[in-house]
Amino acid sequence: MNHFNYQRPSSLKEAFNAKSNFPENSLFVAGGSDIFLLLKKNIIAPDQLISLRSIPELKGIDKTGSRIIIGSGTTIREIEKSELIQKYCPALYDAVSNMASVQIRNVATLGGNIVNASPGADTAAPLLIYDAKVIVINSQFEERIVPLSNFFKGPKRVHLNKNELVKGFILEIPAIGSGSAYLKFMKRKAMDLANVGVAVQLLIEKDICQDIKIALATVAPTSIRAVKTEAFLRGKSLTEANLIQAGEIAATEISPIDDFRGKAWHKIEVVKAYIKRASILAKERSNL
Ligand SMILES: Cc1cc2nc3c(=O)[nH]c(=O)nc-3n(C[C@H](O)[C@H](O)[C@H](O)COP(=O)(O)OP(=O)(O)OC[C@H]3O[C@@H](n4cnc5c(N)ncnc54)[C@H](O)[C@@H]3O)c2cc1C
Repeated sequence: MNHFNYQRPSSLKEAFNAKSNFPENSLFVAGGSDIFLLLKKNIIAPDQLISLRSIPELKGIDKTGSRIIIGSGTTIREIEKSELIQKYCPALYDAVSNMASVQIRNVATLGGNIVNASPGADTAAPLLIYDAKVIVINSQFEERIVPLSNFFKGPKRVHLNKNELVKGFILEIPAIGSGSAYLKFMKRKAMDLANVGVAVQLLIEKDICQDIKIALATVAPTSIRAVKTEAFLRGKSLTEANLIQAGEIAATEISPIDDFRGKAWHKIEVVKAYIKRASILAKERSNL
């Protein structure tokens, strides 16, 4: 492992100042659970690491009107324990409570999970069904708000300039009466990235699906919304036949690959089954 300078600023101003010392080859590090593996394997060799762990502006979970704001430096464990998340964003709770181990969840952050941009990142699909927006801040303290669906560029790549970092995320609280769920299919029972992840948020009235959002992880270069499947289910009952048809449509929206986690054909079959299961679970939760 290369030697590198290490900074632990206590404000955003100090963080950006530190970055200006090595503008080309500095990296921000939050929990380090992704980055330290890359350092250890010499896949990256930064001149400087800037820890974001002691910056209060990046932490916390708040509710403002119909929105939940989560600081990028909030740990996965803090999100799991949050009553706001359990109450208003159960699909995100499903995801974070099944991620990695408690030890990893204690250090890993939401910002790190999203900026790392793994196609199998567990928080991405739930954030997509809550219409999440990314709050990006630059060294001039100017903010821009980007829909999460436009933030991912490709596997491990996001739309973030060198003088920017992610400050937080804005989630839209679903309408009263909605239900949501995230299901993750793994090769092992724990401590693994998803083979397939399916998040569903829906609103049912008089047995008809008034609104539905479906997001899928690990079956495309980035996590995606299954917009054609959503359009098909909107205005329909969640009957067995409709859910089977929805799975068939979802299969046309994805592009899974064979990898060490599983074969593409199997991921397609899991998507079909999990769209059905996650929709039924979300519907059950909407009645609670
Ligand atoms: C054993 C193990 C099990 C795991 N299991 C899972 C799992 O089940 N599901 C899953 O999704 N992931 C899993 N992971 C991956 C990892 O824990 C998560 O992706 C985690 O959320 C990363 O967060 P972090 O704070 O540790 O990121 P870091 O490693 O600190 O950073 C990751 C990337 O994000 C950048 N970054 C971080 N914060 C910011 C910011 N605010 N602004 C700009 N850039 C930023 C860093 O520069 C880096 O490029 C696992 C990892 C390990 C080691």
